[in-house]
Formats: sequence, C-alpha cells, structure tokens
Amino acid sequence: MADALSRRILVLNRLWQAVNIVGVKRAFSLLMQDHAQVINTIDGEFRVMTGTEWLEFSLEKPPRKDSDCLHTVRMKVRIPSVLLLRGYDRIPAKEVKFNRRAVFERDGYVCQYCGGHFHEKELNLDHVIPRDMGGKTSWENIVTSCIPCNTRKANRLPHKAGMHLKKHPKRPRWRPFSSSVPEAEIDSNWTHFMK
Ligand SMILES: [Zn+2]
Repeated sequence: MADALSRRILVLNRLWQAVNIVGVKRAFSLLMQDHAQVINTIDGEFRVMTGTEWLEFSLEKPPRKDSDCLHTVRMKVRIPSVLLLRGYDRIPAKEVKFNRRAVFERDGYVCQYCGGHFHEKELNLDHVIPRDMGGKTSWENIVTSCIPCNTRKANRLPHKAGMHLKKHPKRPRWRPFSSSVPEAEIDSNWTHFMK
C-alpha cells in the first residue's frame, strides 16, 4: 500500500507535453473531477480514457501487482502512469537555479578567459567586476574561470589584467519541464513524452 501511494504520475498538457509530476492522490483528484484523462499504453498504442472508463478498465483487468493499484472499499483501481489535462496549453519552464555547477554548465566547463576546457575541480567562479568594486554574485557578473586565469586576473577588471571574456555572461534561458527531471526518476511509461 505504501509502495502504491508513493507512485508518481506524469501530467501532460493538451499538446501532450510534459508539464508536471504528481502523486497518486492528486492524480485521482484530477481524474475524478474530470480535469484530466488517462493515457493508457496498450501494445505500444495510446488510448485516452476518462476517469469512468479507467475505473471500468480496472474492473475488467485488475492489476496484477499491489504496487500498481489503489484499494478502495469496492475495488482495486489501477494507478495510471500518464495523465492528460483537459484545459491547459502552457508549457511551464523551470528557472535554472544559480549555483556553481549551473555556471559551469552554462559556460560548458570552458574558462571564459583562456578558452580552455577543464574539469570541475580545476575551475573557479570569477566575479567579472570584482566584489570590492561593487560586482554582484549574479548570472551577469559570474563566469567560469580556470584557477591560473582567476589568479592572474585577481581583483581587477578584465581589461586591466589584459584579459577578454569569450562570451558576455547572461542568465540562462528557462528550461522545459521535461529537461528538469533527473533521468533516474523517469518511469519507463513516460519516456515517449519526455522528449
Ligand atoms: Zn583560463
């Protein structure tokens, strides 16, 4: 039972794009209020089913494993893997959180001064405008730098150190929801919708 309740369900918008992942309770609430339908994969084909159709399907073909169903007073209801929302077209995106690794990723692990490619351990974050000159710790003022370049630049503006940035640092664009889900959390029934 605990196992079944910990299941997660992928939610798609009307354009069949992944927009969220919800728990079992929320999934059934969406389904029973008719805000969503189930996308059932049968022999590689997708069938869209309403909440009622899903209950009938559960009665006809009761789930084999307990982890695949929810026990109600009268019956075992299958837990769906994918839901399709009825009235939602937006593609929500997730803001990329500002942190050390995210800056390295934005810059492709390339030192923004010498252009060399480095391992994470050989890289530093550099304040383009030094902190003591009012430079902020932000996407627009932090770049990836190898340790030698970082040392050479020290507390100076790049041009004062005779250095030039490869790229003007910018805040990364928001990423689509699907790319924010760690690979390990992707259920095999979701893969088709996570591209
Ligand atoms: Zn460098």
